Amino acid sequence: MDTSGCTFMKVIVPVKQVPEVAEVRINPETGTLIREGVPSILNPFDEYAVEAAIQLKEKLGGEVTVVTMGPPQAKEVLLKALAMGADKAILLTDRAFAGADTWATARTLSEQIKKMEYDLVICGKQAIDGDTAQVGPEIAELLGIPQVCYVRHLEVEEDGKFVVVHRGTDEGYEVVRVKLPALLTATKGLNEPRLPNIMGIMKAKKKPLEEVTVTTLGISPDSIGLKGSPTTVRKVFAPERRKGGIKIEGTDPKAAAKKLVEFLASKGAI
Ligand SMILES: Cc1cc2nc3c(=O)[nH]c(=O)nc-3n(C[C@H](O)[C@H](O)[C@H](O)COP(=O)(O)OP(=O)(O)OC[C@H]3O[C@@H](n4cnc5c(N)ncnc54)[C@H](O)[C@@H]3O)c2cc1C
Repeated sequence: MDTSGCTFMKVIVPVKQVPEVAEVRINPETGTLIREGVPSILNPFDEYAVEAAIQLKEKLGGEVTVVTMGPPQAKEVLLKALAMGADKAILLTDRAFAGADTWATARTLSEQIKKMEYDLVICGKQAIDGDTAQVGPEIAELLGIPQVCYVRHLEVEEDGKFVVVHRGTDEGYEVVRVKLPALLTATKGLNEPRLPNIMGIMKAKKKPLEEVTVTTLGISPDSIGLKGSPTTVRKVFAPERRKGGIKIEGTDPKAAAKKLVEFLASKGAI
């Protein structure tokens, strides 16, 4: 990430605690995620967002606040971000937040962010469990600020009023100049997230970590959590694993082609 000039950036990074699994397993009877025995981690894409925010602070001066909505144990991911170098953390935790869909999650987070001063909000591109990539763009809509997703390079202009980003696409990347305040979603390649060192871990415990409930947030419990979620999940299931294909062995191309034609004919494909 390149930055230039000198300004003071207030950056908010929403981070999510996710199960540490390459493949999320689903209970076929209840349709819920199997979380038992699975350790939790900071969502990997959020690590790029935290790292980007810390690099901005180190080069331009500023302040990094990490925010999560989750159960009390989600505090662990806030402590990791604080150990990396974030300055402050906010844990939105209340039974009323439970059962939130992406809309209710974004609404809760945006209500908190509205109370804060910020130049940039940097989310991860997506959470590796829910995987929808909806929360970042929804927060931007609710805040009424511009958004750029899949950011893999970021430069702040000298006056601190605009950022120029490279936004990854299927074909390559687009260069987008966006006025601050804005929301970005971070993707792989933006940076190499640092590992917290012992000093960082010790300091993290002394940094401000505020807990916010639905009452202190000051919004109606009917507009958040399960009650405030317009999405209804009809069914959740793990897709069936595809079986391996058939390999036609042999060195004679004609014989192999004959076998292939016979196979396709036996399946009614030709
Ligand atoms: C009807 C319904 C009920 C649900 N009930 C539950 C439930 O009871 N418990 C549960 O765990 N999940 C529940 N979910 C899933 C929940 O909606 C999503 O996990 C959540 O909204 C985030 O969506 P996502 O994981 O796809 O995140 P994405 O949109 O993929 O995340 C993008 C980025 O947004 C930010 N972000 C996402 N979530 C948070 C967060 N919580 N705090 C801070 N930043 C965040 C991060 O920067 C992240 O990288 C429910 C979903 C539905 C549809």
